[in-house]
Parts: sequence; C-alpha cells; structure tokens
Amino acid sequence: MRTRRTIAAALSVLALTAVAACGKDGSPNATANDTASKLPTYQVKTDVKLDGSPTWKKAKERGNLIIGAKSDQPFLGFEDVSSKDRSGFDIEIAKMIAADLGFAPGQVKFQTIVSANRETAISGGQVDYYVGTYTINDDRKKQVAFAGPYMVAGQDLLVRKTNTTITGPEAMAGKSICSATGSTSLKRVDQYHGKAVKYDTYAQCVDKLLTDEVDAVTTDDAILKGFAAKNKDQLKVVGKPFSKEPYGIGLNKTDKVLQDAINAALKAHEDNGDWKKAYDATLGLSGATSGDIPAIDKS
Ligand code: GLU
Repeated sequence: MRTRRTIAAALSVLALTAVAACGKDGSPNATANDTASKLPTYQVKTDVKLDGSPTWKKAKERGNLIIGAKSDQPFLGFEDVSSKDRSGFDIEIAKMIAADLGFAPGQVKFQTIVSANRETAISGGQVDYYVGTYTINDDRKKQVAFAGPYMVAGQDLLVRKTNTTITGPEAMAGKSICSATGSTSLKRVDQYHGKAVKYDTYAQCVDKLLTDEVDAVTTDDAILKGFAAKNKDQLKVVGKPFSKEPYGIGLNKTDKVLQDAINAALKAHEDNGDWKKAYDATLGLSGATSGDIPAIDKS
C-alpha cells in the first residue's frame, strides 16, 4: 500500500510538472503554442462609460480590474506555477468581458478565490467580478448577482481507471467521495449518502484519488474532464451527468448596470464567434463538446 501510494504520489507530481511545462517560457510543447495562436484576441473598447456602475467606476479610478478565478482547474481556470500565466475557458470569458468594459490586458488582474469564498469575495468588493465554474442558483442569488449563463455543465464522477463499481451517483453511498467545500457538488455527496471528504480545491481531491485515499472525486463534468485528460493513464470520468450547472459570472448584488454590461459583452462575443473559438482552444482540448450556448437569463 505504502509503495503504491508513493508511486501514485510521484505520478501526480509528474502530472503537475507536465502541466507546468505547458507555459510559454521556452517550452518545447507545440500544443501549448498552437493553442495560444488559436485563441481569439479581444478588441479593447475605448468609448466605455458605465458611470452608473459603482464597481466599474472604482476599477477605472484604481486603473485595473480585479477578476476572481480558479487556479487549479486545467482547461478552465488554471495558473501555471512557474510562469504565473492563467489559461482556460473561464479565463477567456473573463478577458472578453474585460475588453468590452474598456480594460486592456495589462489592466486585468486575476485573483484566485476557492469555491467556499466566492460570495464573501464578491459582496465584500475583493473582486470586481468572478468567473470560475460558478453555478447560478437561488441560494447564491441572496448574496450576489449573476450575468450569463455562458455554459451549462453537469455533475459527474472521476474514478481510478481500474474502478468498475462506481458507475453513477447512487454508487456514492458508503464510499469516500471528495469534493470542494462550498460547492453544489459537495451537497449531493450527502444527498446520495456518500462519506464526504472536503478540501478547498478539486486538485487536492484529485491528489487523494491518485494516492488511493478516496474512492472518487465529484464535481462538474467540465472540471473532471480536464483532470482526466491530464492523468489519462490513471483516471476516467464516469460520464453520466446527474445535475444541471449553469455557469454565471458573479458580481455585486446591487450593480445592475454592470450586470447588463456583462450580459451585453457575453452576447456580442457569442455572436461574433469568439466564444466558440475560445472553447475549442481551451476546454475542447480535454475532449469536452461545447453543445449549444445557453440563452442569457434576463430575469
Ligand atoms: N459548479 C459547482 C459550484 O459552483 C461546482 C464547481 C465549483 O465548485 O466551482 O458549486
């Protein structure tokens, strides 16, 4: 057992190193370079005036926009440990909106916020908006507002390749199932009578799966596909999603002007093809298929 854990831990370190090697700093990784060249570029608007938005005004005065994001989710919200480069579909969504709000790439600062801290970070003004696999729901709407949705995921399970018993949500009963604190995914572990193991991030859960310390990791399929793609020989996604997770952009509950502006930006970049291009150059590389772009919720 000890040796198996040690080997698995070493493999997990190797996998992380491989991810880190995808940076642009002289990396020989052709795929990373190809991806970068396929990403859309977003024209920065120069005539923006959102004086009715306290968040936008404050960001303009400050001279930069602070966007909350994830940093451990490959192809969605990922930060390269050595270069500090951020990549992924959520990062692209964040950048296209920033350009339409009049902020150049050099004026955009990302701040990592884990699932459990999102509402506090948004309502407390620590971030101007948040893009990070953030499901829109009524409970959260008591504390924050959402723009979007910009995609819909579904909760699924990530298991070791050798596992044949965890085939759907019911199989969570009695098993140790890892998920992130403060997520919608964790709530369903309880609903299906799994033994919940909680961490701040899904990357920590994946490490525990690789070292045989938990039976499965559960969260949105979009997130799990990224981890499975990075650990192809060891992990697989069950592939039977059992929820609907519409992803929104979280923002201050009282800033209706900003919410409208972000919705307009999303719509424009969906209509001009940037959304699809960004998806194909990020999340699409994990094997995920984009499906239809959901209609923006105006309610
Ligand atoms: N989309 C789910 C949620 O917002 C799970 C992923 C996450 O924790 O970001 O809770």
